[in-house]
Amino acid sequence: MEKADVVIVGGSAAGVSAAIGSRRRNPGKKVLMIRKEKSVMVPCGIPYIFGTLGSPAQNLIPDSILTGKKVDILVDTVREIDRDKKAVKTERGSTISYDKLVIATGSLPAPLPIPGIGKENVFLVHKDIGYLQGMLEKVRAASDIVIIGGGFIGAEFADECKKAGVANVTIIERLPHCLQLIFDDEFCNEAERAMTNAGINIVANSKVARILGEKSVTEVELSNGDRLKADVVIVSIGVMPNTKLAAAAGFRTSTSTGGIWVDRYQRANDDRDVFACGDCSVKASFFNGQPVKSWLASIATQEARIAAANLFETRYAGLGSVGVFSTQISDLALGAAGLTERRALADGYGLVNGLAQGPNKYPHGMPGGVQTAVKLIFSRDNGVILGGQAYGGPSVGELINVISACIQHRMTAYDVSLFQMGTHPVLSASPAAYHLVNAAEEAVSKMR
Ligand SMILES: Cc1cc2nc3c(=O)[nH]c(=O)nc-3n(C[C@H](O)[C@H](O)[C@H](O)COP(=O)(O)OP(=O)(O)OC[C@H]3O[C@@H](n4cnc5c(N)ncnc54)[C@H](O)[C@@H]3O)c2cc1C
Repeated sequence: MEKADVVIVGGSAAGVSAAIGSRRRNPGKKVLMIRKEKSVMVPCGIPYIFGTLGSPAQNLIPDSILTGKKVDILVDTVREIDRDKKAVKTERGSTISYDKLVIATGSLPAPLPIPGIGKENVFLVHKDIGYLQGMLEKVRAASDIVIIGGGFIGAEFADECKKAGVANVTIIERLPHCLQLIFDDEFCNEAERAMTNAGINIVANSKVARILGEKSVTEVELSNGDRLKADVVIVSIGVMPNTKLAAAAGFRTSTSTGGIWVDRYQRANDDRDVFACGDCSVKASFFNGQPVKSWLASIATQEARIAAANLFETRYAGLGSVGVFSTQISDLALGAAGLTERRALADGYGLVNGLAQGPNKYPHGMPGGVQTAVKLIFSRDNGVILGGQAYGGPSVGELINVISACIQHRMTAYDVSLFQMGTHPVLSASPAAYHLVNAAEEAVSKMR
C-alpha cells in the first residue's frame, strides 16, 4: 500500500489551494492530489471558452503550480474512503493510506427534471474539457440558443455566445429579474439593460415546461405554452454538492444545501484527520450561521487554505460565507457582497441605505471615466454594514472586495465614511466623490 501524509481528493479550485497550502504549511510532508482529469479547467473561465478565449485549451490550470510546490499528482478516481484503515481506494486499483485526508470533490450541475432534457444539443455546465469542446462546436454552428437560468453564469454564457456571433440568444429566468438572487432590483435593471444592449433577449417570470425535437432540440416550450426556436440549450440553474464518496464513508451531509458537514476548522464530522472544502462542503452564512448556497471559487479556496492550515495543528477558524460576487456583461462590471436589501429585510433587519453615483476618474474631462454606482446597506440599529452592490467599469471587481472587507470587519457607516483611500485622476474616483465614502456618508446623514 502506498502512503502519503496528506491525500487530497479533487483537483480544481479547492483541491489546488489545499495542496499548495498543505505544502506551504508543512514543507516536510508528502502531499498527493488524486483527481479524475488529466487536465483541469479554470472553472470560472468556462463561459469565456465560447467567445473571448475560443477554446478549452486556453482555460487550463497549469500543473506547474502544483509540481513547482512538490505536490504529487495521481490521475484516477477515488471510489472508496476506508476510515478505519485511513486509506482511499481508486478505480484503477491503488490503495493509498493517509495521515490527513482533504475531500474537495466539488459540485455537479443541478439536474432539470423536465421532459426532453436528454435530447441532443441540450448541455449542462460540466467542468470537463471533452464535453465543453463538443459543446463549443455546437454553439459555433448555432443560430438560436436558449439559456435556462439567468444567474451570473447564465448571463456570462449569453454574453459570450453573442460575442461568438450567435444570432439569437435568449435567457429564460423564472424570477422577475435576471441576477435577482444576487442584486437588488435597481442593479438587476442595470444588468438587464446591458444584456439587452448586447442583443440578448430576456424572458423573465417564465419557466421551461419541456424541450422539443426529434433527436436533437428544435424548440423550448414555456409553461404558458409559448415556444422558442433553439438549436442549442444551455442549462445553468445552479449546482449540487458532489458528496457521494463522503456520504458512502459515513460523513453527514446537510439536508438543506446538500454539502458535507464541516466545523469552522473545515473538519468533517469532528474527525481530526478528515477535512472537506469547496463546493462539496457546507457553507455557513457569515450573518446567521445557517447553511447557504454560496458555491464560489473564492470561498472554495479560502476554505481550502483554512483546511490546509489546520491539518496538523489548529490554526484558524473560518468566519462563514459573506458571499462576494462579480461579473461583467458586455462593458458593465457588477459586484455584490453580503446581504441584498431584499434578503436583509426578509431576515428582519431595519435598514439604512446609502447610494453614490459618479465617474470613476476625475476631473470630468479625464478620458475613459465610467459612470459607477455604489449602494451600501447598514443595520439601522447599530449602523453595521450588511451588504453592498456596485456597477461600473472594471474597478468594480476590486471595489466590491473592499466592501467585503468592510463587512468582514463589521465596520459601521461612520467607520466607512472615515475610510482613508488613495486617489489619483487616472486611477480612481475623486477624493471628494469617492463612491464608497459618499454612500456611507449618505447613510450616516439618514441615521441622525
Ligand atoms: C461556468 C462557471 C463559472 C463560474 N464562475 C465563477 C466566478 O467567476 N467566481 C467564483 O468565485 N466562482 C465561480 N464559479 C464557481 C466555481 O467554479 C466553483 O465554486 C469551484 O469550481 C469550486 O471548486 P471545487 O474545487 O470545490 O470543485 P470543482 O470545481 O467541482 O472540482 C471538483 C474536483 O474534484 C474531482 N473529483 C470529484 N470526485 C472525485 C473522485 N471521486 N476522485 C477524484 N477526483 C474527484 C473533480 O474531477 C474535480 O477536479 C463558476 C462555476 C461555473 C460552473
